[in-house]
Amino acid sequence: MSKLPGCGHDEADEDALRGKMPVPDDVQEAIRTLLRWAGDDPTREGLRDTPKRVARAWAEYCQGFQEDPAIHLSRTFEEVGGYDEIVVLKDIPFQSHCEHHMAPITGKAAIAYLPKNRVVGISKLARVLHGYARRLQIQERLTAEVAQCIWDHLQPEGVAVVIEAQHGCMTGRGVRTPGVGMVTSRLHGCFLADSRSRKEVMSLMGY
Ligand SMILES: [Zn+2]
Repeated sequence: MSKLPGCGHDEADEDALRGKMPVPDDVQEAIRTLLRWAGDDPTREGLRDTPKRVARAWAEYCQGFQEDPAIHLSRTFEEVGGYDEIVVLKDIPFQSHCEHHMAPITGKAAIAYLPKNRVVGISKLARVLHGYARRLQIQERLTAEVAQCIWDHLQPEGVAVVIEAQHGCMTGRGVRTPGVGMVTSRLHGCFLADSRSRKEVMSLMGY
């Protein structure tokens, strides 16, 4: 397996991850149509296998449609050793795609909760984020879905989610404003109801 020049693409890695996932002809044809419409020639050598690669890449970008992120919160620990303070996971990198342009959304999230008897392994919070991010999204809904999932399934005293992201549809097209980030937040429970708790959690998350 060879490395394709110029795009950091490693076929061996991709095959290991996605297997030889079959791509239906109509899906490949749709991508050829798009290539043609964009002004290129889908029959030229460099683009010959692109429809298959694009289709497999999209299966991966949208993998979250195949899973229920709540599953990551099903195993909780009730023995928290008397710990009754806020748990924070910061700077969690993620990638998603906007549902309006199918362009990349790249950013980082901070997720915090104040446990009520139950905690989860810290990596599970990132898995919940990725489960919702690997779909076609808007940032506002991604933020709300992550917060709601933790609120419903961990039933903590409070949840806070802050997401900061750049949108490919803004930086690479349209108004072309590289470096502009969008910040969204969603709060539940004590972080919503009590301004002191809110200040505390926001400062722990770095805001
Ligand atoms: Zn967009």
